[in-house]
Amino acid sequence: MDYRLIVSGVDDANRRDKYLHAVGALAKSMRVPYTLREPRSHGQGKQEEFPFLAYRDLVEEWNDWYEKILEQVYKTTCTAFDIPEVGRLQKARKNLSSETRSPRPEHAGQEFMAWKGRVLYSPETGKPISRFQWDAFVTALEQFLNRNLKEAEKRLVLSAAALGKILDRMLKFNTWEAVKRLRLDEARSQAGEKVFSDEGSFRRHFKVPVSEADRIKVAETSAGIYIQGIAEKTRDTVRTILVEGIKERSTKGEVGQVLFDKLGGLNRDWQRIVETETNESMNRAFLASQAAQAPAGEKIYFQRYEAADEAVCKHCNAIKGRVVLWVNEPRESEKIEDPYASVAIWDGKSRFRRKAKDPWIAAGTQHPWCRGVWSRWYPPSATKTASFDAMQAKLRARSEAWGTAVEKARVEFRAKGIMNPTDETPGYLDRINVLFKEAL
Ligand SMILES: [Zn+2]
Repeated sequence: MDYRLIVSGVDDANRRDKYLHAVGALAKSMRVPYTLREPRSHGQGKQEEFPFLAYRDLVEEWNDWYEKILEQVYKTTCTAFDIPEVGRLQKARKNLSSETRSPRPEHAGQEFMAWKGRVLYSPETGKPISRFQWDAFVTALEQFLNRNLKEAEKRLVLSAAALGKILDRMLKFNTWEAVKRLRLDEARSQAGEKVFSDEGSFRRHFKVPVSEADRIKVAETSAGIYIQGIAEKTRDTVRTILVEGIKERSTKGEVGQVLFDKLGGLNRDWQRIVETETNESMNRAFLASQAAQAPAGEKIYFQRYEAADEAVCKHCNAIKGRVVLWVNEPRESEKIEDPYASVAIWDGKSRFRRKAKDPWIAAGTQHPWCRGVWSRWYPPSATKTASFDAMQAKLRARSEAWGTAVEKARVEFRAKGIMNPTDETPGYLDRINVLFKEAL
């Protein structure tokens, strides 16, 4: 049999829809399953790089977690309604650091969807599903989603905040390369797994003040709204597709395909939440730590850092390397008079509701899928007294000098019998800084 694909009237505005539609129509007439998956992208169509591997690990873990839930929903629905499965929603991930290990406490709660038996479903005939079976299935689906997503927002926000704090700490006494390559599992074993999932442990370990803990609660509430939205969308998607199938008298194969595509699309909705909330919470935790450590009255500057990458979007590219001043209270205008910075940032400052062209700089994530982070910056006059870290050294193109300082300090402390000095080892950070300043 010949297949002819004719796509006409294509212009810049409809190109995407036209081709997606054409591929769908072609697959349908060839009776082959197809998957239309959008590339993970935003803005210019390419995805920005992660500045730290542990950050990427965390995002992947959370993405993988919901993928597994969706896979359960898909499989159970197919089995219950005797619908042929098109494929696996869950992608095989090879580089996941914790693949072989048991589920993390922050990913707790995952279980199988409890459903036994078959629902009499024959969309081709247009006959309705028995009310009793339908209600039972929808209830089982709801319970499954509620159980799994219960308090997921707390664990998501806390795990990102914990990672932000750990990275902040690691940067003070490691080389840039070591921090960049640090895996999530190593970060977890250094700080203890509980700081990622238990609020009390998190607060004690990082000495988090009440004001910051309060702001974390706000972030959790906000993330909770999005996560609840995903749960509802997942449930409604399944319900709508099954009922529409009867209304349209589709084949079971068609219903299975639509189910697969739409649930696959929800994966992306979830990933967007994970990326955005992770970046936001990580940045907040980092900025709060830095602001808390600074001596009273000292002006706190931050410099924007993006992983060197062609895919960085226009907005992030424009603020790459920019120095901003931290202020304690929100302001109406971000413009400031200052010898080093023309823009101020504050806790909670966001680009929410702002147009893409607006140069407004957010304190946290600049846009969905944003991966940029901040580093502390010191005016030239202050560098004699300031304490540095690996990221600042990297931004000042002094990475090598920093690495040398870290190694020298380590050797000195080993000679004194301290095998693994950390930021809690008295005098260690100071010594690294002295050696670094000598090398500058
Ligand atoms: Zn960007």
